[in-house]
Amino acid sequence: MHNDLESILIAKEAIAAKVAELGQQISADYEGEELLAICVLKGAIIFTADLLRQLTVDVSLDSISISSYGHSTRSSGVVRFLKDLDESVEGRHLLVIEDIIDTGLTLKYLTENLWSRKPKSLKICTLLDKPSRRQVDLKPDYVGFNIPDRFVVGYGLDYAERYRQLPDVGILRPEVYGE
Ligand code: 5GP
Repeated sequence: MHNDLESILIAKEAIAAKVAELGQQISADYEGEELLAICVLKGAIIFTADLLRQLTVDVSLDSISISSYGHSTRSSGVVRFLKDLDESVEGRHLLVIEDIIDTGLTLKYLTENLWSRKPKSLKICTLLDKPSRRQVDLKPDYVGFNIPDRFVVGYGLDYAERYRQLPDVGILRPEVYGE
């Protein structure tokens, strides 16, 4: 385990099993359809890469980048648009793939923006969810794990761009971010 972690919350084996389960569920739900997967950069990169390989339906991949955090561990409520999609989403089935939902502010903003572009459908898949922290009405369609209100890193999730490469999801020691 990395020294900056207090503990491992979700081990890589449990993540792999859950990703396979989500892949089966999504493949069944979209059978016969074409899907446009939208990876929310950068945190969802690793989850997206693993999830896509579990899908049996036709899928295209695009990515978008919006940020509400900077280098803090709490949402500022200010959402910045950093990179837009490459493709048109009109008339398509969208699956937004996110690493974690906390207050919900980021995805609320993003999904409202995407709905305005007239997709055929839009669903949200998140690896992690902190439902106790929600500030807006936002319900993901596919959730890997509900987790407590602790700051986690690993499997794509960072603190100040570090720890994304860790294979497990772990709780970051509060002293690392100065609390
Ligand atoms: P929200 O807008 O839902 O409050 O925040 C969503 C974003 O906050 C996520 O995409 C992620 O970047 C960041 N975030 C929220 N909680 C955590 C956490 O525990 N660990 C990390 N690394 N990022 C988090």
